[in-house]
Amino acid sequence: MKNRNVLIGLIVILVALPLIPVTPEFWITQLNYIGLSSLVVLGLVLLTGVGGLTSFGQAAFVGIGAYTTAWFTTQYGGSPWIALVIGLVLTAALAFFLGAITLRLSGHYLPLGTIAWGLSLYYLFGNIEFLGKHDGISGIEPLTVFGISLAPGRNIYMLIWLLVLLSVWATSNLLSSRPGRAIRALKSGAAMAESFGVNTAAYKIIIFVYAALLACLSGWLYAHMQRAVSPSPFGLNHGIEYLFMAVVGGAGHVWGAILGSVLIITLRDQIQNVLPKLLNTTANFELIVFGVLLVIMLQYARDGLWPIVSGLWARLFGATQARNRAPPPEAPALPLRAQPQAGDPVLVVDAIRKEFGGLVAVNDISFTVRAGEIVGLIGPNGAGKSTTFNLISGVLPATRGGITFMGARTDKLTAREIAKRGMGRTFQHVQLLGNMSVIENVALGAHLRTHVGVVQGALHLDRAREAQLLHEAAVQLKRVGLGEYLYEQAGNLALGQQRILEIARALAADPILLLLDEPAAGLRYKEKQDLAKVLNQLREGGMSILLVEHDMDFVMRLTNHLVVMDFGTKLAEGIPADIQKNPAVLEAYLGGIDDDLDIDPLAPAQQVVTAHGASR
Ligand code: ADP
Ligand code: MG
Repeated sequence: MKNRNVLIGLIVILVALPLIPVTPEFWITQLNYIGLSSLVVLGLVLLTGVGGLTSFGQAAFVGIGAYTTAWFTTQYGGSPWIALVIGLVLTAALAFFLGAITLRLSGHYLPLGTIAWGLSLYYLFGNIEFLGKHDGISGIEPLTVFGISLAPGRNIYMLIWLLVLLSVWATSNLLSSRPGRAIRALKSGAAMAESFGVNTAAYKIIIFVYAALLACLSGWLYAHMQRAVSPSPFGLNHGIEYLFMAVVGGAGHVWGAILGSVLIITLRDQIQNVLPKLLNTTANFELIVFGVLLVIMLQYARDGLWPIVSGLWARLFGATQARNRAPPPEAPALPLRAQPQAGDPVLVVDAIRKEFGGLVAVNDISFTVRAGEIVGLIGPNGAGKSTTFNLISGVLPATRGGITFMGARTDKLTAREIAKRGMGRTFQHVQLLGNMSVIENVALGAHLRTHVGVVQGALHLDRAREAQLLHEAAVQLKRVGLGEYLYEQAGNLALGQQRILEIARALAADPILLLLDEPAAGLRYKEKQDLAKVLNQLREGGMSILLVEHDMDFVMRLTNHLVVMDFGTKLAEGIPADIQKNPAVLEAYLGGIDDDLDIDPLAPAQQVVTAHGASR
């Protein structure tokens, strides 16, 4: 709580500054500019830092906010508040349109796309007659709030910083809500998130529009503070500068937006003061200095300066240790899906095939998983097990063949649509959000079990549903034995624990069928036993499980039914006791029949049969 008091103290100082008559006017002006750019940079924190979508074009959205109010209030004598609404609507529409076109571009094309529309809008401002061409529009009235004119810098300061703090509050609320967890998965876990039902394309557009709206708000304030607008502050170089502020401040952190704005604006000012005197010229050197600084930053502080500042902060004022935090309070359980009757076919795979060019990775494989069964899919490395998994879960399209899940064909559906129908999965290569807490990673698995919109999340109107999600995540984590690690960063767990965490996340989706790709890989003996216990309990509870596994002993003891693959083809199928005597299977696994080989399914675990090669 000490932590919080310091924050409140800082906010009180921020509010009190303009009220103290001795505060220099220059400070107020600087802080106003810092507040205005903080709004834009905050949008970039969400868009670029968290969402991984780089935009050089934010300055153009600032321009839309500024020009809309300039034009509407000077030409029509309209209210600036109505102009703000018009600007926001216009920005949202344009951002939606631009986002729909550019966000589909990947890699370098997205930043290039943002440069293109940033430039187009800039030239548009400078060439439209009614926007005053390159001279812009002047004579804009100052804002008035409750009869108080915001013409003095000290007055508009209050409005600017109120809006900055509100935006920081809303953005950090958003980030710790259901939609926020989905947004945090965009950068490094989009495919994983899709398989829990997250519509990543929609969330990309949402954060793009969100960032554009913050930029527009900043432009509206700017126009009424400056009382005049012209195209130059909305050009590409300012777009780059905003991005620079986000990178320096710490692109993934809401407070990094303010830190970056403070540092860059102060620094720019100092450079403009000092360098001309030093070098005896008046040229603009700050861009060169910024460029050098950026290179240094990328070398030594890739995540920006906020993590360093917050680390110091935690040391000075104390932050709560993850391990000492209490679990989330009890909350009403989330709704449950209707489960099938034991023995009913849940998944029917019918002659499914996948070709990668000339390679037949999955060669007309058929099998059925029934409710309450654990079916094992085994085979040496490269046999096509993971590919089969990806066909079933909709990550890859099948070349041909049919997949029926709960009585309906799913082979043409996307991973997201299949997830909706009740398929939960883990990944052979663990896919967690390493810098997100364990409990939040699991809560992402329950994404489809409740609905919280972006506005609800941002305004913190989601408390009841958020509590349900976190409670559910805690319940699943306890169930798999990770109840002590709720608030640990997922990336800090051992690999074995991360695999178990993935199972909890899949369970949080309340699946009908659980697909586990090598869950026991990297687990120690004791951990494997615990995992087997959990899977057995799940089966007793009626869960159907399809398990890919390398550890034969683990599979033999756990499964009801086995499907053996080799080179994409089904080699054998049956109960474990028969499979382990099957000559073709032994041939594939050991490259020859070993007469001494006799596996006792109840013997203590030892690696009796291993597939050739290590897991990959
Ligand atoms: P397993 O999980 O049984 O070890 P996989 O399903 O990963 O096997 O791979 C089966 C075969 O398909 C391998 O020969 C692998 O190299 C190939 N393969 C897998 N994914 C792809 C891909 N995306 N493109 C081309 N070949 C692939
Ligand atoms: Mg595999």
